[in-house]
Amino acid sequence: MAVARTRSIALLGLAGSVVEVEADLSAQLPAFVIIGLPDTALGEARDRVRSAATNAGCPLPQRRLTVNLSPAALPKHGSGFDLAIAVACLAASQLVSADSVARVVHLGELGLDGRLRPIDGILPSVVAAARAGCDTVMVPTGNAEEARLVPEVTVVPVASLRDAALWHGGEFEPREVEPVRATARTEPSIAADGDLADIVGNESAVAGLLVAAAGDHHLLLLGPPGAGKTMLASRLPGLLPDLDTEAALEVASIRSLAGREVGAALTRRPPFEAPHHTATAAAMVGGGSRLIRPGAVARASHGVLFLDEAPEFPMTVLDVLRQPLESGAIAIHRANAVASFPARFLLVLAANPCPCGAAGSMSDPCRCTSLVKRRYLGRLSGPLLDRIDLQMWVPRVTVANMRLAGQQNGMSSATARVKVAAARAVARDRLRNTRWRTNAQMTGAWLRGEGKLHPGARATKSLDRALELGNITMRGYDRVLKVAWTVADLDNATAPTADHVGQALYLRKGITR
Ligand SMILES: [Zn+2]
Repeated sequence: MAVARTRSIALLGLAGSVVEVEADLSAQLPAFVIIGLPDTALGEARDRVRSAATNAGCPLPQRRLTVNLSPAALPKHGSGFDLAIAVACLAASQLVSADSVARVVHLGELGLDGRLRPIDGILPSVVAAARAGCDTVMVPTGNAEEARLVPEVTVVPVASLRDAALWHGGEFEPREVEPVRATARTEPSIAADGDLADIVGNESAVAGLLVAAAGDHHLLLLGPPGAGKTMLASRLPGLLPDLDTEAALEVASIRSLAGREVGAALTRRPPFEAPHHTATAAAMVGGGSRLIRPGAVARASHGVLFLDEAPEFPMTVLDVLRQPLESGAIAIHRANAVASFPARFLLVLAANPCPCGAAGSMSDPCRCTSLVKRRYLGRLSGPLLDRIDLQMWVPRVTVANMRLAGQQNGMSSATARVKVAAARAVARDRLRNTRWRTNAQMTGAWLRGEGKLHPGARATKSLDRALELGNITMRGYDRVLKVAWTVADLDNATAPTADHVGQALYLRKGITR
């Protein structure tokens, strides 16, 4: 038999498709032709596969080899097809079992020395293989841990092309090689593993965090430098419920594609992403010329995206947030394809009240004019702030506050998480016949109309008054109502009372009405 077949996976965003890899050996003059790959990758794969086969001690015959990757129209990026191409060629040359090769999905890049190199995006690739009904996947040793996170798939780790050939019944002497290890990209980041109990003397901010976590409300923290805004934001993931298996796999898959370490067990805790204000729009969205990598908004999916000093971010970067905030996904457009990543996150913006940061603090005087202040926070206004339900003023913690709070023990993250989970369950039950799952997702018109969730004029007296006086807009009114429901859910009440509405109004004392 001169034709052999196997399979590999092409990724576009998180979605993987099965690629058929066919190799044909004919008696013509020696040549190595690959069709169905984009031009640059094609030449590279050809050179790598031939050298790797020679150096692994299982050289391809000096005849004409034609490899076809189909479907041709499917965009194929990266170097993960090397192993599939190589084993298909070995099978066509009758050096290994064609039946064995046909049953297995192959993923991995070849080094010129014949060793297999780990690739990014192994997890989503193996998930795609499993969904397509494939039960055995061969991967580089360095990717084995990650591949094994997918249940019900047999993972065959191999260190070299020679090991792969041996596994497929090739008659070669085993040759021990040092496997190539994965090198994860580590980027400096703010740790999100501290406890809520660490926050002392800032009770109202802690209450606001609980409301944000329970209702899925986006949050703006306004306050002078040193008020602990970063510390507050980094505690928020700790208040969110554990991820279910599907969400955890999605989060790990995004990390895998981003070239971050995934580990041997699925992480159930929600991610925390805090890009610096020098981050570019591309760093937020994602991109890359070969494999399309997810940016910060996708990496924050199912968790928290924190923008410290939000007004310092370029407008182009802040604009990028609009699409994910609306649709829960981010699309990356390429000449021949669109990659889409999930991007549903809880957004936390932090801002100083003015460029010098001193406004509102008692010690240093602020010299910013009111025009400068307005312009500074004005950079955040409009469509972005329209989606932020909570706006909290975070004062600098004074020594007196600390002493007062020091006597009582603050709430731990574990306790808060139980409260948040209970409140979320109540909201989910109330919204069970709608397309929403959390209070933040409701629309104001539905809430006041069809949903019949207006708590009545007695409860909203203060809010109605604020609307009459023009202290709050109709949009702001609706947002306070939504937050009031979350406050009520946390309080185990059947509907918001005047007190709950009052607390919700307090959690909106920011820069917009
Ligand atoms: Zn100032």
